[in-house]
Amino acid sequence: MCAKKTVLVTGGGGFIGSHLCDRLIQDGHDVICADNFFTGSKENIKHLLGNPAFELIRHDITHPLLLEVDAIYNLACPASPVQYQFNPVHTVKTCVLGAINMLGMAKRLGVPVLQASTSEIYGNPAVHPQKEDYWGNVNCIGPRSCYDEGKRCAETLFFDYHREWDVAIKVVRIFNTYGSRMRPDDGRVVSNFIVQALKNQPITIYGNGEQTRSFCYISDLIEGLVRMMNTPKEVTGPVNLGNPSEFTMLELAKLIIELTNSNSELIFKPLPADDPFRRKPDITLAGKLLDWRPQVQLREGLTKTIEYFASTLEIQ
Ligand code: NAD
Ligand code: UDP
Repeated sequence: MCAKKTVLVTGGGGFIGSHLCDRLIQDGHDVICADNFFTGSKENIKHLLGNPAFELIRHDITHPLLLEVDAIYNLACPASPVQYQFNPVHTVKTCVLGAINMLGMAKRLGVPVLQASTSEIYGNPAVHPQKEDYWGNVNCIGPRSCYDEGKRCAETLFFDYHREWDVAIKVVRIFNTYGSRMRPDDGRVVSNFIVQALKNQPITIYGNGEQTRSFCYISDLIEGLVRMMNTPKEVTGPVNLGNPSEFTMLELAKLIIELTNSNSELIFKPLPADDPFRRKPDITLAGKLLDWRPQVQLREGLTKTIEYFASTLEIQ
């Protein structure tokens, strides 16, 4: 998208969505943000509210939306396990009905639509690192299934709309991403550990802490999303977007304690059901198609994220 466009960002009031709105406006586009504020916050976009290039619609994407836009980023969906399990039926509806509504709009308008899919597509992976051609290992009846299967069904819908109606789809599988504007209480590991460390409270390790994740800094992810939207029509994905540097939760906790100079101790809590044991993206495809690779490594990204939480929580 080089010329000025009007771009719809669903979930634009959330962590990733608000950074994407900033980037698109910086690039000279008009942005319409549609959000029901289930997990997002007006705080994340309040700096955009007076900007003539920015419009905010309070809208739940499980309901149809009639707009005229040039491109759609579909990010609306709670992403933290605590939040997507709060109302699991609504999570499925957001994934499935939301996808149908956004695909319907893309079909009517003949515009590209990007789906924020997830590494959860791979479930508890039997293949490591995860490549896009791995079909995954997912429980369809567990507490995580509303999100995992919802997102899998959304991918199915994207590819069926593409095959049946020639809709220009862009499916990205996002791996654990972190940065400013994550909610301090969202229950995800990076925000939990940073808040606990800054408050010198015990750091809650679920299970034995040997499970791994690969953490991508927000600016790297946003670059990947924009590059994917700008690809030619034949590029559909799915494409993994994530940082392949893999860490155990114990390593993450120790690094955050070091960077915050915290007195926190580690405490161990039960591992949630179906918690994936390991996760690391193979990003060869993103390198080839998008010439993309993460630039910000964990220590640097955490330092910036800690600064953000320290200032919002007013903890010195
Ligand atoms: P987030 O919870 O901060 O943002 C999601 C936004 O969507 C919020 O503003 C929320 O209010 C809104 N929303 C939820 N349900 C909605 C609905 N029915 N209608 C309208 N708005 C709704 O989460 P995030 O981390 O910014 O994630 C954004 C997207 O990226 C999600 O689709 C998520 O599945 C995907 N993703 C994120 C990660 C990650 O590590 N952050 C990893 C994989 C995939
Ligand atoms: N986790 C943890 N302590 C916490 C929160 C999460 O040990 O306070 C673990 C969780 O069990 C999982 C990993 O950290 O193994 C990542 O969890 P998160 O909820 O951030 O995302 P997920 O990748 O599981 O969707």
